[in-house]
Amino acid sequence: MDERPTLLLSIDFEDWHQLVRRRVGAANWEQPGPGLARQTDALLVLLDELKVKATFFILGMTARSHPDLVQAVAEKGHEVGCHGDAHLPVYAQTREEFAADLRAARGTIEQLTGMKPLGYRAPAFSIAEWAYQVLADEGFAYDASQLLRGRGAPTASLHEFPVAVWRSPLRTIPVGGASYWAVLPRRLVVHGLTRAGPLAGLYLHPQELDPQPLRAAVEGASAIQRAHAAFRTAQRNSARRRAPSTLRAIAKRFRLIPYGEAYASLSSGARPQPVQR
Ligand SMILES: [Zn+2]
Repeated sequence: MDERPTLLLSIDFEDWHQLVRRRVGAANWEQPGPGLARQTDALLVLLDELKVKATFFILGMTARSHPDLVQAVAEKGHEVGCHGDAHLPVYAQTREEFAADLRAARGTIEQLTGMKPLGYRAPAFSIAEWAYQVLADEGFAYDASQLLRGRGAPTASLHEFPVAVWRSPLRTIPVGGASYWAVLPRRLVVHGLTRAGPLAGLYLHPQELDPQPLRAAVEGASAIQRAHAAFRTAQRNSARRRAPSTLRAIAKRFRLIPYGEAYASLSSGARPQPVQR
């Protein structure tokens, strides 16, 4: 019997190069980035080494740029979740725009993997209170978009799995996020996770597992765009150096499972289902 406490493991599956190029206004932003294939390889190898399955919240536009990688993830038996389509803040959208974004992403994910995602994670945790009802209406069973409280509560038919947060006497720290692992001592991350409560969530991004340093290629960009991209790159490279060893340390102390498995255990066996064609 595994006595370790359980945490939920997730990857926000997106193409860092696409997103950073769009953020700095580069003209070539939509081209598939050069890093996601090696990042995905490294990630799948690490998860195999740790003998864990994770939930991949897949971004629709990334899936269309890298269909083979999404299929490789699904074929490994990892859970397929939904990270929306265009990676725009939920709170800045209308209900109709949000529903359309969900449908676009889900259509792509279902077509590539044959699986209907049960769970949703908002881009950059930008969930809005009204969005929970839209998620429930669109057939999602759980949400994993709460980083810190204060975004309202899901509807009765939608389960919420928040990110692991450590409420220390001094401050509240989202210890579940690999971007925070770059700035916290590892033992503090592990300690914080023991205080985060049952079924708290961890999240990583593929670029945090990149075996090579990240470089944002922003051809034709202005000096200010290049400076902005260089700043994002330095931030991400610092997270990248720490993520694999921190995840190994966490996996020694905790049982790591996909969100869908936790949802199934709470809801008498509902699991992600193949799409009915
Ligand atoms: Zn994201």
